[in-house]
Amino acid sequence: MATGFVWHELYMWHNTWNWAQVFAPGLTIQPGEHAENPETKRRFRNLVEVSGLIDHLTPLKPRYATEDELARFHDREYIWKIKKLSAENGGDASSLTPFGRGSYEIGQLSAGGAMTAFDAVLEGKVKNAYALIRPPGHHAIREYGMGFCLFANAVIAILHAKEAHKLGRVATVDWDVHHGNGTQAAFYDRGDVLTISLHQDNLFPANSGGLAETGEGKGKGFNLNIPLPPGSGDGAYLAAFEQIVIPALQRYKPELIVVPSGFDGSGVDPLGRMMITSEGYRAMTRMLLKVADELCGGRMVMTHEGGYSQTYVPYCGLAVLEEMTGIKTHVDDPWAPLMANWGGMGLQPHQQAVISEAANLVQSIT
Ligand code: ZN
Repeated sequence: MATGFVWHELYMWHNTWNWAQVFAPGLTIQPGEHAENPETKRRFRNLVEVSGLIDHLTPLKPRYATEDELARFHDREYIWKIKKLSAENGGDASSLTPFGRGSYEIGQLSAGGAMTAFDAVLEGKVKNAYALIRPPGHHAIREYGMGFCLFANAVIAILHAKEAHKLGRVATVDWDVHHGNGTQAAFYDRGDVLTISLHQDNLFPANSGGLAETGEGKGKGFNLNIPLPPGSGDGAYLAAFEQIVIPALQRYKPELIVVPSGFDGSGVDPLGRMMITSEGYRAMTRMLLKVADELCGGRMVMTHEGGYSQTYVPYCGLAVLEEMTGIKTHVDDPWAPLMANWGGMGLQPHQQAVISEAANLVQSIT
């Protein structure tokens, strides 16, 4: 069965202004693009086309999330603020989250694109789907956006699926290098969504994503953070998948697996200090597909988050899509021979120590 692919040109028209203005006001750095600019996503999409893989994907046309659908998670005051500023000349959803004219509608299309992917998978039109959407979503909380995220795309799509498809248990596996704090916050007191986040320890947001954050009330035990030390490579990530993520999913038995997918854990990302290779992302995808086949008819949706290397995100993304479709293109990752010689790529003892501690939390999942 097919793999769905959500894409829209308007995703590239979300304007994040100028990094110098946003991050370093005053005349201290030459003006240039914001880190979260269209290039990495566009180049990912371009490689999907140039590699020929696009011919094997089922295009899914994103729809616009309505205000009511956004409001399943976000406060109306926040939605109205973005809508008003977007109709004028743009503004800032919070620190570091600038947006331009029209970004409200593009934000609706981003959340709507996640919903479109969910609908296609849950209606059986495709087996799995990748939503290459922008702006990203996993840092946005109820009251405001943050960390380049306007609206919480995956959260809004999960809430939509519970409403429209009576979806029961859902599990999220967020492999973006930053903590998926918005997704965690949305479901922190709920047992019907298992939220897992693998991230660089205490990177962003500050003091967020620790092992002690395990959920509360009915959600106790259903939030699992894996804060890996900086420098973690394929070895640490695959060990975390084998020892924590896969066993957690097997215990929880979700009806759908959702992956907020950022490629900023790669070995050359400017905003992270991890060392995942395209083969690492491929292997993680393979493990998720296998467990999805075992547990939920292969149903899996990826929603695009971060990833800031213009020259490497495309290869990481292509590897993931090749696994999802089961089709290997002629494209080889040109970085692979370089990264193969990097020290510390295998699992290190201090990384295993964190993984062992996090693995203890799996027992509380029922
Ligand atoms: Zn990120």
